[in-house]
Amino acid sequence: MLELLFLLLPIAMGYGWFMGRNSIKQKDQSAKQDLSIKYSTGLNYLLSNQQDKAIDYLIEALKVEDDTVEAHFAMANLFRRRGELDRALKVHEYLVRQSHLPSQDKQQAVFELGKDFLSAGLYDRAEKMFTKVLKSKTYGLKALTYLMQIFQSTKDWQQGIALKKVIVKTKDKRLLHTLANFYCELATTALEKDEFIEVLELLENALSYDPNSCRANWLMAQIYENHQQYREASQCYRDIYQQDKDFFPEVIEPMHACYVHQDIEEEFFTFIRKVYEETGSSSALLKYLTYLESRYGVNKAKEFLLSALKRRPTIRGFKHFVKMQMTDSEDNHTSEGLDVIKELISAYLNMRPRYTCHTCGFNSSTHYWSCPSCHGWEQLKPVRGLEGE
Ligand SMILES: [Zn+2]
Repeated sequence: MLELLFLLLPIAMGYGWFMGRNSIKQKDQSAKQDLSIKYSTGLNYLLSNQQDKAIDYLIEALKVEDDTVEAHFAMANLFRRRGELDRALKVHEYLVRQSHLPSQDKQQAVFELGKDFLSAGLYDRAEKMFTKVLKSKTYGLKALTYLMQIFQSTKDWQQGIALKKVIVKTKDKRLLHTLANFYCELATTALEKDEFIEVLELLENALSYDPNSCRANWLMAQIYENHQQYREASQCYRDIYQQDKDFFPEVIEPMHACYVHQDIEEEFFTFIRKVYEETGSSSALLKYLTYLESRYGVNKAKEFLLSALKRRPTIRGFKHFVKMQMTDSEDNHTSEGLDVIKELISAYLNMRPRYTCHTCGFNSSTHYWSCPSCHGWEQLKPVRGLEGE
């Protein structure tokens, strides 16, 4: 019965208003009677649990006027929230058909109809509706956001890119970020085919729409590396550090390889030490330790690690310390014990997620450019804190 109450609320409001407004108009008497019959028939159907028939009558009874249109929207949105999409669609379609509605209400009806289609997974129809209201001041930006969501779901990157002029006009950072990632998707395919010029063009486009897209620089570094242009690739990695310090630990290894190819490892370790000092990243710390160990010996590296762990303890740092103790230990028994501890820490770390979404908190051991939970682009970054970076 509670469900019926919900359904009746907006209907009763609209009907009450309609009856009140018309009570003084004698000439509307017959129309009123007609609506009254439809209303009571609708209620009868509702009470006898024939909800689809009830809706037909109630929509008719609640004749769409400027003041009742809100009741229609409320009713349809209620249906959609309850997952009764066919009913929401029926009401919104009815509203769209009302030629006398003010343009603002009509735009709302088209926009809401788009949302119904989207919820029902009817992407082509939703796309049509959202495209219709793209120029609307109230619904344009929201419709554009939904359209990009649709193209993301259907992987129609080119269709999303076709909207670039509209997106640029909005100056909306999230949409520009999405657009840049659509270019990155195309660049990823081109990278697989090793199409050097095309990849660079696509990524330059991505960076022009979102200069903070570290994904674009990461892809650019890869194509440069594939073509042995290590100096350019190194610059891309340095740019990633400027763009997103949280993401940077991901590229430490390939960046190191680029510097080795150029025979300028010292420069790399100067940079990585700066990264460690500025961010406290455990990946940067571990990388720097390999340098200290090979250059100044294990004791110097251990000393550095101990002071680092005192300042900012991390499990990865501790695991490395145990490893160093093992190589240093001459006693087999102690070494075995340390090995067990090291394996235990490794098993623990393997169970922990390596990435977390900065938007919705989704955790994962695998990296995704688009979060599987909230679908936000470039939001999965290495976990920070005791168990992470
Ligand atoms: Zn997320």
